[in-house]
Amino acid sequence: MPEEESDCEYRKNCHFYSMKNMNTHSRKLKGLYCIEWPQKCAIYKAKATGKPVSITLCPTGKLQA
Ligand code: SF4
Repeated sequence: MPEEESDCEYRKNCHFYSMKNMNTHSRKLKGLYCIEWPQKCAIYKAKATGKPVSITLCPTGKLQA
């Protein structure tokens, strides 16, 4: 089944969205945030307000190790 495309305006420059070999958890987050509700994503919010975005920042707002 082809993956759904996000309509998030930041997807092209998003470290999370372009992540290769996503695990199940990340794929779920991608569905929840990137596909369904980008405005809820912590990366989206940071980009939208011009804040620096850590490349370990997750859509939930947590930093990944
Ligand atoms: S919703 Fe968040 S994680 Fe998904 S592409 Fe947009 S900024 Fe990136």
